[in-house]
Amino acid sequence: MIAVLSDVHGNLEALQAVLEDAAREGASRVVSLGDVVGYGANPNECVERVAKEASTMVLGNHDQAAIDESASEHFNAVARRAIEWTRQELTPENIQRLRETAVEAVEDGQRYVHASPDDPLSWNYVLTHSDALAAFECFSERICWIGHSHVPARLLLRGGELKILHDVEFKIPEDGRALVNVGSVGQPRDGDWMASYALFDASTQRVIARRVSYDREAAASKILAAGLPEILARRLALGR
Ligand code: ZN
Repeated sequence: MIAVLSDVHGNLEALQAVLEDAAREGASRVVSLGDVVGYGANPNECVERVAKEASTMVLGNHDQAAIDESASEHFNAVARRAIEWTRQELTPENIQRLRETAVEAVEDGQRYVHASPDDPLSWNYVLTHSDALAAFECFSERICWIGHSHVPARLLLRGGELKILHDVEFKIPEDGRALVNVGSVGQPRDGDWMASYALFDASTQRVIARRVSYDREAAASKILAAGLPEILARRLALGR
């Protein structure tokens, strides 16, 4: 069983809860789809924990902005303040870890990338039906795992037909391919405050979307104590 997680965003409490849940569910491998930092108060701890636990990690746009100032030019004011703070906080070792992180990975018939697979460093979102169809054109593997929007989604392409799956658990049919957005560990935006990630059981070809409660008040207090924008603490309770 593989645990695929994304968009931790410096939220150590949520990351710990997800890793514990994944271990309990029997995950033997962890893959991180990036944005380990940005927004939350524990960027170093999160980079170190992900580097230790994940056998594969790919870069997110906030990770890139943490190591390259010019990459945050298009960020909104809150995201920019948070990434400037993060840049100051990160240790040289953790900056080096992010520098060494690849932008995508392909392993065992699966593609891992932070945003749309069409052009990973453009950080395009997959939000609409046509975005999803275009994304399927850009990978040949059976499953492409993404994050970036902080909204979990499970899409199946079979016989040229695109289906949005609403069940939390589904089996990928022999003749189908899947695009799975695992949502966000540290800052969900689908209206559910609980940390989001996904499990994949290769032996049964099943994808399982998971939600995990965590100590969000501790995470929010640390954001305020660090002097980060208050909205970043408040939104954890809203899941927006
Ligand atoms: Zn993100």
